Amino acid sequence: MKNYKKSRSQTVTIFVAICVLTAIAFGLFYIFMNPNADLDGDSGRDGDINTSPQTNETPGDGQTAPPGHQQSTQSPDVEYITVFVSPDDINRGDLILVNKDNPYVPADIDLAVIDDVKTVPYAVSPAARRLKSSVMSRFDDMMQGFIDATGENIIYVISAYRNLDDQQAILDLNISQMGREEALRQTALPGFSEHHTGLAVDYRVIIDGVQHPFADFEVTKWYRDNAYRYGFVLRYPEGKEDVTDVMSEPWHFRFVGLPHSYIMRQNGWVLEEYIEAIRGYTVYEPLKAEYDNISYEVFFTTETDIKVPEYSRYEISGNNADGFIVTITR
Ligand SMILES: [Zn+2]
Repeated sequence: MKNYKKSRSQTVTIFVAICVLTAIAFGLFYIFMNPNADLDGDSGRDGDINTSPQTNETPGDGQTAPPGHQQSTQSPDVEYITVFVSPDDINRGDLILVNKDNPYVPADIDLAVIDDVKTVPYAVSPAARRLKSSVMSRFDDMMQGFIDATGENIIYVISAYRNLDDQQAILDLNISQMGREEALRQTALPGFSEHHTGLAVDYRVIIDGVQHPFADFEVTKWYRDNAYRYGFVLRYPEGKEDVTDVMSEPWHFRFVGLPHSYIMRQNGWVLEEYIEAIRGYTVYEPLKAEYDNISYEVFFTTETDIKVPEYSRYEISGNNADGFIVTITR
């Protein structure tokens, strides 16, 4: 019995050893024959994040993933979800580009009557009644910022949202006052004005009930230097006329939101240039910006099923031309 037991024990030991050696041999074979084997246990299967941008962006095109694609800069910890938008959404959002090449496409916008909702005592022209509701609080913050910084409460909001009829009336008035050629040089045709978006404002200065040109006052330069902090930009700056195709308008500001206003300022871009520059960035290689201790990632896509990182806050705006600008906040 004793010998039998010993013999059986040896057999079991040899069997276990063979199993272990076989497992090691298979393991080594797998590693050496598969350069993409992931030793930390992440298989990189479909649905994981390790697939390269090429394999994701061109599904079904027969290309194989490039060698070494797992060394890409993407974080292996990020998962993505897909958000679906409508093709019509290209014409909606805070980043839509409205100019001579990109007419405004009418959409339902939630407009606020400025005088009814404002929380800061600035003056508003009866002709400038409404602004997009979602930007009102940041607009008020900017107006308060000006009063706090300068000690002056002299800003007059002369124009904000305009419908097609409003724009036609302004054009007609300008034609009667300055002649057709000059009026058309200075005034957008109905359908091509940024004021249709509810995101643009024009200022004047008002002192003792008398209106003055905005740029005549040194103190109004505050807007040029600080509007970006509230998501607004000087839309038609001097020196960019060849890009915007609009003469310098020191009184006209446009909401685009953060971090876009900050990025545009840092790079000296007007909206036309920003819309163009952002085309070079993808969900996997976004434009990164840090402002006020918030990290942002911005990218462009022409797809209507849009990948965004899971558990992130995202905003999607059309560019009013051919795609969407996605803003991720972390
Ligand atoms: Zn304007």
